[in-house]
Amino acid sequence: MTYPRKHLLAIEGLEPPHIADLLDLAESYALLNRSGKTQRDLLKGRTLINLFFEDSTRTRTSFELAGKRLGADVINMSVSTSSVNKGETLLDTASTLNAMHCDLLVVRHAQSGAPSLLSQKVDAAVINAGDGTHEHPTQALLDALTIRRHKGRLEGLIVAICGDIAHSRVARSNMHLLTTMGSRVRVVGPPTLIPAEAARLGVEVFHDMKAGLAGADVVMMLRLQRERMSGGMVPSAREFFRFYGLDAEKLAFAKPDSIVMHPGPMNRGVEIESAIADHPTRSVIGEQVEMGVACRMAVLDMLSRQLPRNR
Ligand code: ASP
Repeated sequence: MTYPRKHLLAIEGLEPPHIADLLDLAESYALLNRSGKTQRDLLKGRTLINLFFEDSTRTRTSFELAGKRLGADVINMSVSTSSVNKGETLLDTASTLNAMHCDLLVVRHAQSGAPSLLSQKVDAAVINAGDGTHEHPTQALLDALTIRRHKGRLEGLIVAICGDIAHSRVARSNMHLLTTMGSRVRVVGPPTLIPAEAARLGVEVFHDMKAGLAGADVVMMLRLQRERMSGGMVPSAREFFRFYGLDAEKLAFAKPDSIVMHPGPMNRGVEIESAIADHPTRSVIGEQVEMGVACRMAVLDMLSRQLPRNR
């Protein structure tokens, strides 16, 4: 197994064998989870802290479940209950965590780079659970695993990532992972929501949904992240849906066996029509959540192999 780092802060910089090994390990955890078995001795005696400075339901619960299935002691710290609200700085928080001998630290923060900063100050292995508009590496891993389970590979697939690319850390991590693994990535959205760096990342840019979806194997929809927008970057939700919302008519341009994905939370009727989100054969949105637990187990397993014993 190859994984060269102490932390998982980003997908950018990982090489194909690192990603492939993580996905293979995650696949074995997906099978273990489906069999109803657990492996509670693996992280026995280890402490996992979920430190969330931003709201999350899916990701936090997923890491909690992953840690518990591997036998770790899991503690959830959210901003509202921590002393960050009382003015404690990020670095003071780091010393507190060091004093608690935390082994694995899962961090979500509204500021890009916050998990990386913490990783320089804590003894624990740090996992980025989403930082600003930068990256959300475990989301890209779970997306890749879901795609691989349906298509048998990543290489050569046409993947259309649609909607609010500019504010999406999910899109950024996916662009890095999928291009590294040889997929042909397209980003589709209005010019205001496509980041300037898209061309540098080796992806094709489309402003028309039907052209962007033509012949796609995978259609990945993203939420309009209004909380990160500074003013009128999009017209009304109704108009956005007309041009960029996924409905049966637009999906018909993708391959007939294409799959539909969404990292959640979904805005039904804004970026995706309910009938498509709940489509019994095309939508794999539920499976993404299931693969999330398996991928997080794989990441915790892989990082814990490099931790010193008995800290
Ligand atoms: N849950 C994802 C994230 O944390 C996507 C989203 O919020 O739209 O980035």
